[in-house]
Amino acid sequence: MMQAVEVDTQRFCKNGQSWEARNDVATFPRLAHEFTQGGLFCRVTGEASDSGTLALRIEIRGDVTLTCQRCLGELPYAVDIGHALHLARGEHELERLDETPGCEAILLPAKLDLLALIEDEVLLSLPMAAMHAEGECPT
Ligand SMILES: [Zn+2]
Repeated sequence: MMQAVEVDTQRFCKNGQSWEARNDVATFPRLAHEFTQGGLFCRVTGEASDSGTLALRIEIRGDVTLTCQRCLGELPYAVDIGHALHLARGEHELERLDETPGCEAILLPAKLDLLALIEDEVLLSLPMAAMHAEGECPT
């Protein structure tokens, strides 16, 4: 099982650090039960813009297998997540970032567990009810 990857969020961004992992889905504590097989490549990169705005660039890719809720058979699913999460250093900056179209922002946490962040992103991206298209369940 993978362990928590806790970082000092501000330092991680300011130093442009990055963390990546390529692991079997069975090694992710909260994803192991979602998928029957597959692997995920994950990368989180810290960024600080010239104006001082902090952000995390999140990339997660992989081919995994879900269980079809209709036939309980295997359902191939491609995870392909790529976006930036901006980190506001106060309510004022959070308001400003929230008003920027397409900008996702949260208040800067002092510490952040990158593994939990990756798992949250994957769980949020999954379909509510995974199933083959109507009439396409293998018999
Ligand atoms: Zn099915």
